[in-house]
Amino acid sequence: MNQFRYFMPTDTYFGRGCIKANQDVLRRYGTKAMLVTGKTSAKKNGAQKDVTEALDALGIAWVVFDEIGENPDVETVVRAAEVAKAEQVSFFIGIGGGSPMDASKAIAVLAANPNEDSNILFADASAKALPVVAVPTTAGTGSEVTQYAILTLHKQRTKSGIAMPVFAEAAFLDPQYMDTLSAKITNNTAVDAMSHLVESYLSSHANTVSEKIAEMGLLHWKAVIPALRTRRYTAEDRDNLMLASAFGGAAIAQTSTSIPHALGYFLTYEKAIPHGRANGMVMRGYLELFGSHHAKVERILYCLGLDNLESFGLLLEEILDTEETFVPEEIAYYAKRAMENPKKMATFPEFALQESDIVEIYRKSLKMK
Ligand code: NAP
Ligand code: FE
Repeated sequence: MNQFRYFMPTDTYFGRGCIKANQDVLRRYGTKAMLVTGKTSAKKNGAQKDVTEALDALGIAWVVFDEIGENPDVETVVRAAEVAKAEQVSFFIGIGGGSPMDASKAIAVLAANPNEDSNILFADASAKALPVVAVPTTAGTGSEVTQYAILTLHKQRTKSGIAMPVFAEAAFLDPQYMDTLSAKITNNTAVDAMSHLVESYLSSHANTVSEKIAEMGLLHWKAVIPALRTRRYTAEDRDNLMLASAFGGAAIAQTSTSIPHALGYFLTYEKAIPHGRANGMVMRGYLELFGSHHAKVERILYCLGLDNLESFGLLLEEILDTEETFVPEEIAYYAKRAMENPKKMATFPEFALQESDIVEIYRKSLKMK
């Protein structure tokens, strides 16, 4: 067996009411917190209240920055970091989907390096961050247990991860916060979790532990397929989704994401297609590239309880309700841009990908006008 490393340092708590039950954990990270959230969801789903009640009970001061939009850009995290520095915040609590959780990691780097500008986020892989605590309210990105933070770069017309690893020190996974999630966001984000599991499993960086984690996640994901189809989710479905998402995060923390994420970023930037949905839309063509009866692809289908790639593609169409259409020029542009990321292209384990292979993935997956 090849040598490998497994590293996932986040102190992780799961279950309904897990913040209140474990609030003392928050004492470890300092005397003043900044809650980093989106506009409304953290207030509506009860997560923000649970966090502020815990902080108040512990006598930890807090401020809120609630201006994180979807696919947060560098400009927004810079603005939040200015507030954090002025408020002399000692740690961050990202509450929400991947957008606020990722933003809190980038803000924590900027706040820990007050004399640097935003270039540090992409230039200095050894830069340190102030502590981050993550409270996911989608399932999802798995950002609560990954070292990644993905930001939108308007200059480059795409999204990119920050250079330094920033794992949350602690994560509280309470599935009840997802009760307020719409079916659309539930399904789009569920597909992100599945794409992490699949991409990690198939990546050239996969190892024996990351593969096992991915398989466990796929089994939890399989259990929610009926709910993703009917768009009615029980408490047990929410539990399974949150676990599948966390397993997906733990898996990509070892391997990084792969081709579907690299291709999905252009759909998100150019067509405003939500992240998980974008990955799902290119997934079928990606799996087809492995050829028929590839052992690992067969294993994924088995874990998901699906017979073949045809049923996999139809399932994705059904749960995403895809209607977006594309023209060949768009696809040609995305494929050209994708080749600018050779590190990501090298995660494909079978052969050296050419631009024409990428065009083929898009063409086989997307609906053309
Ligand atoms: P998101 O952009 O964080 O949130 C999407 C929408 O869901 C927002 O409108 C948000 O509202 C709403 N929302 C969140 N929780 C809710 C709840 N419990 N009830 C009702 N509405 C809720 O979506 P996401 O898919 O979770 O995150 C996507 C981002 O994560 C992308 O930028 C992607 O690149 C990144 N990502 C990161 C990693 C990683 O490892 N770090 C992995 C994959 C993806 P509010 O704005 O009001 O909160
Ligand atoms: Fe993702």
